Amino acid sequence: MYELIDAHCHVGLTGSSETTLMALKLGRESGISEFITSSAKFEDWENAEKLHIQYPGIEYTVGIHPWFIPENYRSIIELLSDFTDRGAVGIGEIGLDKAKGDIPFSLQTEVFIIQLQIAIAKNMPVVIHCVKAYNELIEILKNTGVPEAGGFVHGFSSSRQIAGNLIDLGISISAGKTLLKPAGEKTADAMRLAWPEHLLIETDSPYADPTDEKNIHYPCEITDTLKILSSILKTDLHTTAQQTTVNSKRIFRLNT
Ligand SMILES: [Zn+2]
Repeated sequence: MYELIDAHCHVGLTGSSETTLMALKLGRESGISEFITSSAKFEDWENAEKLHIQYPGIEYTVGIHPWFIPENYRSIIELLSDFTDRGAVGIGEIGLDKAKGDIPFSLQTEVFIIQLQIAIAKNMPVVIHCVKAYNELIEILKNTGVPEAGGFVHGFSSSRQIAGNLIDLGISISAGKTLLKPAGEKTADAMRLAWPEHLLIETDSPYADPTDEKNIHYPCEITDTLKILSSILKTDLHTTAQQTTVNSKRIFRLNT
């Protein structure tokens, strides 16, 4: 059996406690030792902290997702620094999205940069959501900087060249459910570039597919992604699991 870390999910932040228990049980049976559950909005922060205290194996990050920027974002962001000191392992899910949401891109950019600056000041890794805005993301990372602790773009779906630019800046990439869709050769090639040291694995459960919010997913489905990733990399499941686990532990500074 191998050990896996689900580097990006939202386990426990939605649904009943029975669903959470089921997600954790099935996930552990699939080899997952740590679930990095990411907050998307302020209302999640305290819940994520509680989950971490309640369930062994849940680590959490705090941040404001580009879909969920509230009107009072300035006062909320003022609380971010304190919240990271209460046991979060990173700042996220933060980022840029040109495909979905009603939030103007200029506001997304502003909120992303402020959170990135906090991550740099606190040296916390960042969990980045990026859809159709990779060039803008790279520009911001170049101008604002990257925390020494690094971070990663979750559910990466872009080219080898974009992956290379991110890696040069100290940002890794994470393989998610997008790999399960056909015609992912461009992204597959990016995964090969990031292998071995800059590649993570995740489920983004329970959402997994933002266009399909009714369909609930579980972290145990990470094994589907593990199989595809291993075939892309021409490695065995054990090697892929072990290396992505080492990478997650390094970025999130987990000592388990
Ligand atoms: Zn997510």
